[in-house]
Amino acid sequence: MKLDVNVLRYLSKDDFRVLTAVEMGMRNHEIVPSELVDRIAGLKHGGTYKVLKNLLKYKLLHHDRSKYDGFRLTYLGYDFLAIKTLVNRGVFTGVGRQIGVGKESDIFEVAQEDGTILAMKLHRLGRTSFRAVKSKRDYLRHRSSFSWLYLSRLAALKEFAFMKALEEHDFPVPKAIDCNRHCVIMSLVQGYPMVQVKQLQNPETIFEKIIGIVVRLAEHGLIHCDFNEFNIMIDDEEKITMIDFPQMVSVSHQNAQMYFDRDIECIFKFFRKRFNMSFQEERDDETEVEVDENSRPSFFDITKDANALDRELEASGFTKKEQNDLDKVCDPFYLSNNTAYLSGAFIEGGMEKNEDSDEDEESDDEEETVESNEEGNLNEMRSLQLQEEEQ
Ligand code: ADP
Ligand code: MG
Repeated sequence: MKLDVNVLRYLSKDDFRVLTAVEMGMRNHEIVPSELVDRIAGLKHGGTYKVLKNLLKYKLLHHDRSKYDGFRLTYLGYDFLAIKTLVNRGVFTGVGRQIGVGKESDIFEVAQEDGTILAMKLHRLGRTSFRAVKSKRDYLRHRSSFSWLYLSRLAALKEFAFMKALEEHDFPVPKAIDCNRHCVIMSLVQGYPMVQVKQLQNPETIFEKIIGIVVRLAEHGLIHCDFNEFNIMIDDEEKITMIDFPQMVSVSHQNAQMYFDRDIECIFKFFRKRFNMSFQEERDDETEVEVDENSRPSFFDITKDANALDRELEASGFTKKEQNDLDKVCDPFYLSNNTAYLSGAFIEGGMEKNEDSDEDEESDDEEETVESNEEGNLNEMRSLQLQEEEQ
């Protein structure tokens, strides 16, 4: 999917109003009925329907008539809402070239008024990771598109929260600037992913630094879980920056040791292959032998403080409930062990509804909840309107 930001210029206030109305409707509806969009947007003289056509033309919405006449946001529509909000906040003024395509994200350069270039990561959960494994594919069939938007938003929030917390503890990470919906704005890292590096001046030093980061992370209660040559950036001065945090887990996770060992193994493997490093240990009899297993850090030997980063994480607003929701789809262990989840119960349990309320409402109350939330939507929309008028 192409992000044509030029379209932003052609979109009017009413276009954004209707787009926002669809987003609000999606809190309770996978597909938002046209009349509801119209009610929330509150444009006069049937204006909503004309605008909907325009948004469809730019592929910001998807039209669905399978059960009733309704609409849902596309990722592109969600991108535009996030970009517009961040531009209005003055975080950046323009979107530039795409600099990265991750497994589940697109990364762009964005420019601030003074010319500073930042990185914008748009999370796209569900793009690839659920294709590979059959059980996951089955699972995907039951999922509503809104859940992907919701989960992408959680992934962004988590990434932002972790980036901030890690920075506070002097880990080498990009500077977290802002976050909205599924979008994270961070400093642009100079350099390139390790995977592109063919030669290093001091491979041993870099290796030790990187292993040191994995160990220190564990001391602070965390495991990266995707710590490899794609998520470690290095610049010409051989300065290391680690990126990509949505899948991080706590050292108290049931599979913590496995994840930790896997991160360590990735680094050993990469340095062994790419820089011909062999990991040797001197024995008492002074013969050198390759004993990888003895030279690698052991998860159990590390003194771990599982709460070390909690304060920062809490401060950035990433709740335990959101963490749980995200874990349910990002954690392969959870997926393969929870059949109710795979059968789609998760969706029927009301992922959407949970977004704003902590309790799992029973279906008896559903009508009422939907109604009152719609009232909430309308109120929110009205307050948006007031804010706009004030400006
Ligand atoms: P994914 O979770 O999809 O793997 P990443 O966060 O790893 O996404 O980003 C994908 C790629 O985008 C990285 O490999 C890197 O090349 C580039 N990238 C990500 N963040 C930055 C950044 N802050 N500065 C520069 N390049 C970045
Ligand atoms: Mg990555």
